[in-house]
Amino acid sequence: MTSAYRKLPAVDTLVQLLEQRFQEDSMPRHLLVNAARQSIDTARKAVTRGEEAPSTEELADVAFNQARVLGRPSLRPVINGTGVIIQTNLGRAPLSHAAIQAMEAVGTGYSNLEYDLEMGARGSRTTHVTALLCHLTGAEAALIVNNNAAAIYLTLITLAAGREVVVSRGQAVEIGGGFRIPDVLRQSGATLVEVGTTNRTYVRDYAAALSLQTALLMRIHTSNFRLMGFVHETPLHELSILGQAHAIPVLDDLGSGTLLSTQPYGLAPEPTVQESVQAGADLITFSGDKLLGGPQAGLIVGQQTLITQLRQHPLARAVRVDKTTLAGLEATLLAYLNNRAPDDIPVWRMIAAAPDQLQKRTERLVALLGSEHATVVESTSAIGGGSLPGETLPSFAIALTSQRPDKMAHRLRLSNPPVIGRIVEDRLLFDVRTILNEQEEAFIEIVRQAVLA
Ligand SMILES: *Cc1c(COP(=O)(O)O)cnc(C)c1O
Repeated sequence: MTSAYRKLPAVDTLVQLLEQRFQEDSMPRHLLVNAARQSIDTARKAVTRGEEAPSTEELADVAFNQARVLGRPSLRPVINGTGVIIQTNLGRAPLSHAAIQAMEAVGTGYSNLEYDLEMGARGSRTTHVTALLCHLTGAEAALIVNNNAAAIYLTLITLAAGREVVVSRGQAVEIGGGFRIPDVLRQSGATLVEVGTTNRTYVRDYAAALSLQTALLMRIHTSNFRLMGFVHETPLHELSILGQAHAIPVLDDLGSGTLLSTQPYGLAPEPTVQESVQAGADLITFSGDKLLGGPQAGLIVGQQTLITQLRQHPLARAVRVDKTTLAGLEATLLAYLNNRAPDDIPVWRMIAAAPDQLQKRTERLVALLGSEHATVVESTSAIGGGSLPGETLPSFAIALTSQRPDKMAHRLRLSNPPVIGRIVEDRLLFDVRTILNEQEEAFIEIVRQAVLA
């Protein structure tokens, strides 16, 4: 027993071994000491249980991996071969070059974030993007916060705390990640009044629920599922006529929200922000990093008086956005202003990619892989991000055949950069629609190693 303990190396010995292994990319010594200690501790416990002492080399392997994992960034770029364009787990919208440039320019130095250059006096951080957003949507006023969840919360707490919000039973939904409309309402201090049935809600149902306590009529875009068949949703314009007649504001949570129409791309219509403004919604909330294709943000547009109330609520400060977000958002919106969104914004470029172009790309990549295990197959891409559920775009994918596609998928997930695909039967598929052009070279190199291995 004691001799087994004695076989374990001293911490210093192991640290020296680690230093040799790391050579070029040197690691801080305390990190190596910690990793060495931990692996020796684990080994000592194993010996206590009566197991064989691992060799010094084995201990060095364990400590090396641990130190390497800690010492390199954990949040890293990945190659998205899933074909889901707005993948929340993979960071939603990739940003345009213009957005990145703007974020870098503002982030690496000082900026006029809250400084009025004309007056030489204090300015407001929200003015930068809001005029542009109003111009693009036709809304009177706008406010930018951290994300759409914050936008909804700020709106409810400001306008409906202690009062009632009328919502269709079919729209009291969970968005994902535990974000449930009924819970958010409760948290904000508002009372949810559900009207209609799961599948059919008429404007008369809302009308019957109005009381002196009613603060808002709320419509929620049921972004991640679709009801089919015997279904009726009250159109927004009918809700706003009702709201106007009773001086009750209508809040429209669009979820993804889009400034461009989806129909020209062969997709079902996704309500645009402009349409909601025209239909008379008093406040509209949507995300910056879904179909808009920008950084994470919550965009609120609508009536000036209501926006002013939101801006003045103490919570507004707690959900305000960072300067780099504002810079990226402004650059993203400028692409819409200049009619360049389908060319410059990656989300829209991917939506717009034509199937024959995707087929050519797939064929080229498969040829570069040069393996009998890699073939071209038809595939379908999805929009994701809680927009257009069930809608797909015809696409093409690289298919890798393998005895164990799950093992191959695991190996590719752990490569650098990680490559994420999807398993269909005995094949691992990579939809080229979501693989960025500048990632092709890395993709080929990594997959080639995996296929040959
Ligand atoms: C995605 C979504 C949200 C939450 O938006 P975040 O920007 O992720 O906070 C809220 N409502 C709807 C309908 C959504 O689709």
